[in-house]
Amino acid sequence: MFLDELPEFRRHVIDALRQPLEDHAVTIARAQITLSYPARFTLVAAMNPCPCGYLSDSRRTCTCSPAQIRSYRARVSGPLLDRIDLHIEVPALAYDDLAERVPGASSSQIRQRVIAARQRQLDRFAGEVFCNAQMITRHLRQHGQLDRDGQALLAKAMDRLGLSARAYDRILKVARTIADLAGADQIRSPHLAEAIQYRSLDRQLRDDARFAT
Ligand SMILES: [Zn+2]
Repeated sequence: MFLDELPEFRRHVIDALRQPLEDHAVTIARAQITLSYPARFTLVAAMNPCPCGYLSDSRRTCTCSPAQIRSYRARVSGPLLDRIDLHIEVPALAYDDLAERVPGASSSQIRQRVIAARQRQLDRFAGEVFCNAQMITRHLRQHGQLDRDGQALLAKAMDRLGLSARAYDRILKVARTIADLAGADQIRSPHLAEAIQYRSLDRQLRDDARFAT
């Protein structure tokens, strides 16, 4: 499911996604009966950095006040962000950057890496679950172990970003996947550091909250 302009959705609509994102089920309760339907889906959402959209653009000037920017971001609730694994800032590209094709891995090369990483996960869980995203606490304890450096790094990030227990688990799962993509048996600090980087909106909201108090 793709939600464009995430902050434009009404708060109760966005918050209604929390349960299905967490439980992979939609529960409908009526006077006579309560029904649950399976709802495993991938949520992709996009938002601008500010109401006018030019906050991080080097060629245009943002016309929003700091208060407008804070209230725009605050429309997306922390509990929903907690349930989104990857936050990525995509800066505007100049035409020259777009036109200049940077050589990188081809789609077919990336596909091979993804297939290999998924296979590692299938082998690891032996049919219990299918991928890292489905890991429960017991799996995380077994397969999300960090070395001493990793533990120190994550403890620092939790403190610095004010992350919740839910975000902590999600970072571990993402780090496990990054390690799988690298063909590594153990999660190492670089895998963990990359996973922590994908929490940029937690960072922004934390900064906004500090400014407001
Ligand atoms: Zn703006």
